[in-house]
Amino acid sequence: QPNTAALLSVAGLTKRFGHFAACDAIDLAIAPGEIHALLGENGAGKSTLVKMLFGVLEPSEGAILWEGRPVTIATPAEARTLGIGMVFQHFSLFESLTVAENIALSLDDSVPLATIAEKAAELSKAYGLPLDPNAHVADLSVGERQRIEIVRALLQNPKLIILDEPTSVLTPQEADRLFETLETLRAEGRSVLYISHRLEEVQRLCDGATVLRHGKVTGACDPRQETAASLARMMVGSNVAAV
Ligand code: ADP
Ligand code: MG
Repeated sequence: QPNTAALLSVAGLTKRFGHFAACDAIDLAIAPGEIHALLGENGAGKSTLVKMLFGVLEPSEGAILWEGRPVTIATPAEARTLGIGMVFQHFSLFESLTVAENIALSLDDSVPLATIAEKAAELSKAYGLPLDPNAHVADLSVGERQRIEIVRALLQNPKLIILDEPTSVLTPQEADRLFETLETLRAEGRSVLYISHRLEEVQRLCDGATVLRHGKVTGACDPRQETAASLARMMVGSNVAAV
């Protein structure tokens, strides 16, 4: 049933590719100011789920509720307008353009580049994401490229920011920095949907978790109240080797 206190909830959300259900009747709810983990092994359906939430894939079935109201999210632009930002697993940046020029591509044409550069510098400072708006993407590390995507999302002042396996491309130091940023977002009352298959970071960072296996929800919990072994069991089934 609908969760009216939730910022975002989904009910029975399903995505089929032919006869194969990558997401199979998924229920999930994210409260305001919550860092919610979407936990699951490779192929569990995590990216497919969030692509439906960001208007990249059309659901086959099910409902999405935003602030208690049923919504259709047909495009990323519609998702952004609602207040959803997304940091994809694979970035879509133009190497030969600067940071600010890349950000400009996702914004209204009427915003001057200098204003974007100024805003980006401001946000990168405020959220601990060091970035030179005039640097060329080709000269940046993968961690810095991810910061562009985060700053780009923050420019739209999102209520929910979705990150798809962000630490898979980060050093441990960069991951620590990212966690601080996410904690800042939480302190501001924003929600985060944090995709990962790494138990230790989910237990360290997240207030709630939904676990997926083979496209189905196998658990919804407070990850800090669970042992790593019980979370692992939700992820891979009961035949998990002793952890
Ligand atoms: P995760 O992000 O949890 O690793 P995905 O959502 O990427 O998982 O994929 C879930 C399942 O759906 C996988 O078996 C994957 O091969 C399949 N899948 C994903 N996208 C497509 C697609 N466009 N067409 C067919 N199958 C897909
Ligand atoms: Mg994925």
